Amino acid sequence: MMKYTFEIDLDRYKNLAQQKQKTHKKFLAGLAKKPPKQLDKIAKEVHEAVFLEIDCTKCANCCKTLGPLWTEADIERVAKHLRMKVNDFEATYLRTDEDGDKVFQTMPCQFLGSDNLCSIYEVRPKACREFPHTDRKKIYQINNLTIKKYTLLSSSL
Ligand code: SF4
Repeated sequence: MMKYTFEIDLDRYKNLAQQKQKTHKKFLAGLAKKPPKQLDKIAKEVHEAVFLEIDCTKCANCCKTLGPLWTEADIERVAKHLRMKVNDFEATYLRTDEDGDKVFQTMPCQFLGSDNLCSIYEVRPKACREFPHTDRKKIYQINNLTIKKYTLLSSSL
């Protein structure tokens, strides 16, 4: 499949995200207050159209700056894939954050290769599979996460 080959300018995205944060918050609050009937369908269509034009391996900034939250099922699946004991896997890669969630000890993600490909792609955590959550149903239910996500992404550049 043909991918769009625009230059990725992370500084520009950072500035735009900061400049437009108020507008985005207002827009998302409006969606939450009165979600349009076709919102799920529209969000899915836009998500699919945008991702036809994006080649994540050109950047992989998400995997360099935002780690996933790990579920117990993720940990067991990836540990098994790496032929590691769950306890050893957790001790090597994970920590518990201030909210009690399991997250990576360090970033960029240690499973990200120099080619920007994920070395555990087939068994990657659920949060990685679903990121950036722009095609999920009732997207207005994660407005805070949506704003936080882009702020975190841009502020870590
Ligand atoms: S596990 Fe794979 S998809 Fe998830 S952050 Fe690491 S490199 Fe990216």
